Amino acid sequence: MRVSMLCVLALLIYPTLAASSHSRLIVVAFDSFRYDFPHVFPGIVTPTFDKISQEGARVKGSRPVLMTNSWPNWLSLASGLWPESHQVVDNSFYDPEFDKWFNLAIRADPRYYDMGAEPIWITNQRQACSQRQAAGDQRHAGDQRQAGDQRQAGDQRQAAGDQRSGDCENPRSSGAVFYPGAEAPFSGMKADRFVTPYNELLDYRRRIDILMSWITDPVRPINLGMLYIDNPDHVAHEFGPESNQTRDMVELLDNLTATLFDKLQQEGLLDSTNILFIGDHGHAPGPDKLISANDYGVDSSMFESYSPRSHSTAQLYPKKEYEEFVYERLSTIPNITVYRKAEVPERYHYNNTRRMVSMVLIADEGFKLDIGPKSRTDVPQRASGRGSHQMDPFNDKAASIFWAYGPAFKQGFYRDEFIYHVDVYQLMCHLLELKPAPNNGTWAHVRDMLNVDPTSTLSTTTEGASAVLAHYWIFGLNLLVCLLALQHTHGDIY
Ligand SMILES: [Zn+2]
Repeated sequence: MRVSMLCVLALLIYPTLAASSHSRLIVVAFDSFRYDFPHVFPGIVTPTFDKISQEGARVKGSRPVLMTNSWPNWLSLASGLWPESHQVVDNSFYDPEFDKWFNLAIRADPRYYDMGAEPIWITNQRQACSQRQAAGDQRHAGDQRQAGDQRQAGDQRQAAGDQRSGDCENPRSSGAVFYPGAEAPFSGMKADRFVTPYNELLDYRRRIDILMSWITDPVRPINLGMLYIDNPDHVAHEFGPESNQTRDMVELLDNLTATLFDKLQQEGLLDSTNILFIGDHGHAPGPDKLISANDYGVDSSMFESYSPRSHSTAQLYPKKEYEEFVYERLSTIPNITVYRKAEVPERYHYNNTRRMVSMVLIADEGFKLDIGPKSRTDVPQRASGRGSHQMDPFNDKAASIFWAYGPAFKQGFYRDEFIYHVDVYQLMCHLLELKPAPNNGTWAHVRDMLNVDPTSTLSTTTEGASAVLAHYWIFGLNLLVCLLALQHTHGDIY
């Protein structure tokens, strides 16, 4: 009796255990995973990353945005916008209109994030019930966007009235395990699932389990999962980016990726899931050369109280009356570059926002400027350990990985060129069959890694069909096993 009841239950429940029928994407976000980490360590063993190289698609790396700290970069990756457009211009910044100093401790304040960006998890939910988009619409989306259009992006979306209507039978849904920003509202929406508050002690395998439970949720499975891992950032800061400890961490992350692949395989989802591996920035040794602004006649009292004290890249906030003096003096320091607001080179896409207040500092690799009191630099200091990611985003060491794996990608594709973080959002929209929000991505940067002409939806359709077929096969096998079991337990039936 028990066997028969279990069989009936299993067969009844099975169809609801299938994952979302929408295109499925997992984004694995490794903090500070420099583009060349898998290759700089002699003798490193990374079989899973090797498998991604052989069976997936890669480019040389992805260039970050200024400032090369985590929060601006995670949002540029997720929204396809330069900092001047999403306006999270650093981890901490000053907003003159709100007359408020923002930092990570108060990033739950919606004004920290919600300044016009639409991250991918919101795009996915906003088009929860939409049909497949014509690929031709998306292909040129990046090219059509003008820089001036982006600031009004939020307004346009509101006006369009295309708020998510999740009342269809099988809506798209997003989940994020600690991906920065997923806990915050954007135009009043948040990711359907997110883990909060941030807990860096939460075991990495447990994070995968949470993600998998959302993907296989029988009631409302997610079709977009963002998984954030806060390494190799910690070890690279503490021990240096090219240390044995960083090598060991890269091997551990390889092993962790194998676990993710195994779990997807166990659920029969590996072949029908696209997976992106991204990082927010790279990492460089040092900086070990600390320059005191005091030695050049610039005193900490010339800055507003919220000025950063010691950085390799930063906004500087001199008091109005000292602005010219500070600029002139700092401009004379070797290995230090200072730009006034109007002079920040266009390639940084940084100054067209009110949150770029006065001037920007970019030190050469290995250098750091301290604007604190003289006594701070009388004793030898290190930056924050033996490694730092604060550097010019066009320094190759600032670049992160960009790897792709899954049915949408060419096998073994490699292009020896960097893409930009802002190119990633449009690609995610394509993989999820979504119409992208206005963004700064360039489609030509990512097009050639896809395994079919993007004007055709054949690839994903075929994948979807084979996934459904696989489910029916498993259902049939389940039925067969149950019938056999019933025969053998005949005596129990009444
Ligand atoms: Zn970071």
